[in-house]
Amino acid sequence: MPELPEVESVRRQLAPLLEGRRFERVEVSDPRLTRPEDPAAVARSLEGERVAELGRRGKYLIVRFESGRALLIHLRMTGSLRVARAGTPADDPYTRAVVRLDDGSAVAYRDIRRFGTWAVLERGEEDPYLAARLGSEPLGRTFTAVRLGARLAKRRAPVKSAILDQRTLAGVGNIYADEALWYARVHPLREAGSLDEAEVAALHRGIRRALARGIERQGSTLRDYRLPDGESGTMQHEFKVYGREDEPCDRCGTPIEKIRVGGRGTWYCPSCQEAPAGRARAPQAASSSSRRPSRSS
Ligand SMILES: [Zn+2]
Repeated sequence: MPELPEVESVRRQLAPLLEGRRFERVEVSDPRLTRPEDPAAVARSLEGERVAELGRRGKYLIVRFESGRALLIHLRMTGSLRVARAGTPADDPYTRAVVRLDDGSAVAYRDIRRFGTWAVLERGEEDPYLAARLGSEPLGRTFTAVRLGARLAKRRAPVKSAILDQRTLAGVGNIYADEALWYARVHPLREAGSLDEAEVAALHRGIRRALARGIERQGSTLRDYRLPDGESGTMQHEFKVYGREDEPCDRCGTPIEKIRVGGRGTWYCPSCQEAPAGRARAPQAASSSSRRPSRSS
């Protein structure tokens, strides 16, 4: 599922192709994309709009038009955008919408599982719409360790579930949550409100580091995610814990373990990320203490 680094990578590649261009013709062939709005009506209302800017907030891609209106695209599970410079998108049964631009190129929206959404907002509607759904932008200036601490304080949910909540901070999903917690050396099942100041600061750094790295590698392609030019991201080759069960931790060599947290597959290092009090340590974690330097006589 595309998370902040994937959506940001799409934005960076698409922005120079869309900004300044006019939506000449729009076809939406899947009613699920725009519901409850009528797909043909949404398509018609977008024709003639000129793109001022392609933005992003959390996992939303935001096409801002000169008119003040905005098209919010959420890729959800399997949505992606493909550019056809010659104006003819490849024949593809999963194409749900096509936008033809005034320079003869086209952008196709494809979605296998059809959870993605397109929502058109009128002038003035964008800020309240997003503010109701999203917390701070984790790579923005207003996202500080103090602010993160305030969002986690008094929460009894596992810290991983708390950082997946888009109202805590926007854009972190299952992959980058696990990576951030590994960087921070915080166990995913720790109660969110139990982190001390140093741990919150480490988590704040870990979140930023994991996301920044993901953007540098243009996201991670596990199954469906592609960049608008059809290329894959490469972050999947550099995961520290995500999907790496039984492989050695980069930091200490202990085999990575998998558990479930809030129903989500979760990977962590049982040595670097200490289990919360009261939770039995896994056998591998216990044996790692025997690798302490042996006493010299
Ligand atoms: Zn480790």
